[in-house]
Amino acid sequence: MVTPDDNTYMMQALRLAARAREFEEFPIGCVVVNQNRIIGKGFNQVKMSNDPTVHAEILAIIDAAQTLKNWSLENCTLYVTLESCPMCAGAIVNSHISRVVFGISDELLGACGTQSDLLTNNVFNRSIEIEKGVLADEYLALMRVYFQEQSRCKKNEEDNGYPSYAYFKKLFSTNEK
Ligand SMILES: [Zn+2]
Repeated sequence: MVTPDDNTYMMQALRLAARAREFEEFPIGCVVVNQNRIIGKGFNQVKMSNDPTVHAEILAIIDAAQTLKNWSLENCTLYVTLESCPMCAGAIVNSHISRVVFGISDELLGACGTQSDLLTNNVFNRSIEIEKGVLADEYLALMRVYFQEQSRCKKNEEDNGYPSYAYFKKLFSTNEK
């Protein structure tokens, strides 16, 4: 069940996604919440770090574990603007996060029920509660701006890499009402 608090925390994740966009990173933001307190934050930093593993979720999970001084994030909720990829879903399972809330579904990489479901069918046989669609319209608005900027400077065509405009259109077609 989505609560008013979910919107509040997702708003913080959206702010972090906007931060990523300022750095021309693919805009994804994430916060980890424990007992009504944000204990971890992250935004996608792949390009600026030259590191394909520094997704928003990974950084937020590391930050949260450092805050708690505990690798186990049981009873924590992770909020992320875009459905997590398989790498991040693996980190969510390994960190024992109990609940995941995301904004929009990722038709290409989503590992929280769209392309695959690593959270409810994980090796630990522990189901993780999933909520989706929280502040989805607000996030789509941010993504639209980002992709318009990207296509204007033709970066995607030149790089021929992720994320492409085709990817965005795919996101739109499945998430827009
Ligand atoms: Zn990821």
